[in-house]
Amino acid sequence: KLVSKKWKAKPTSIDLGDGVFIKDGEMAIITGPCSIESEEQIRKVVDHCVENGIRMMRGGVFKPRTSPYAFRGMGIEGLKLWHSIASEAGIKIVTEVMQTSQIEEMYPYVDIYQVGARNSQNFNLLDELGKVDKAVMIKRGISGTIEELLQSAEYVFSGGNEKLILCERGIRTYEKASRNTLDLNAIPILKAKSHLPVIVDPSHGIGIRAYVPQMALAGVMAGADGVIYESHEIPEKAYSDGQQTLDFAQSARLAAWIREIFDKR
Ligand code: PEP
Ligand code: MN
Repeated sequence: KLVSKKWKAKPTSIDLGDGVFIKDGEMAIITGPCSIESEEQIRKVVDHCVENGIRMMRGGVFKPRTSPYAFRGMGIEGLKLWHSIASEAGIKIVTEVMQTSQIEEMYPYVDIYQVGARNSQNFNLLDELGKVDKAVMIKRGISGTIEELLQSAEYVFSGGNEKLILCERGIRTYEKASRNTLDLNAIPILKAKSHLPVIVDPSHGIGIRAYVPQMALAGVMAGADGVIYESHEIPEKAYSDGQQTLDFAQSARLAAWIREIFDKR
């Protein structure tokens, strides 16, 4: 496979411009709300990122929701607004693309296209992202194996897009005490098998706010090249995933811990 270390031994480095990288040997921190909700919220999260030296912000504008009646995102207009505020602050944008028709309209406003767990094996979407000259982060499928995640990455890579990031976000198991089962095992295994950077998502991985920090740090110790976690000015009021979202004080503390642990790794 092209994404395997056998094909390419040197770790892949993703250069997002303005000195922002996702690569082996650096610690990427990506935070922000589950959903982009308003201009006011965008400004607050951008300020939080700037204050803490966080250069990448996450947030969904097209949301894959279990219930069709739940908030489904601000759409392309929300992304445009977000981009105008974030780019001015030097913050890169990580957001989910749900279908092929969105790739082009999102292109000017996105730095990393996120492929969500539910679309991890949407092979048409992966094929199209293979033709794009922008970074793609693929999340592990809800019940996806490590091998299936690597095969999904292979679709994009073999299509010509080598700016690829893998994300462990937990899988569905028989365990009901947590939202998902964060598979920390996947991190060293993916790092050993592939030259691509690996990011850990403890928010969706455990789904419980109080335990997000320790799972984030466990992911760093397991060898992750970055952490993506949800934060919001008032998590209890978030339109989605508030139960697993950190407030800004918790997020600032976690970002500092991540850097400290990474430096000692
Ligand atoms: C998200 O990042 O908010 C999200 C929907 O994640 P996942 O696809 O991993 O469920
Ligand atoms: Mn979420």
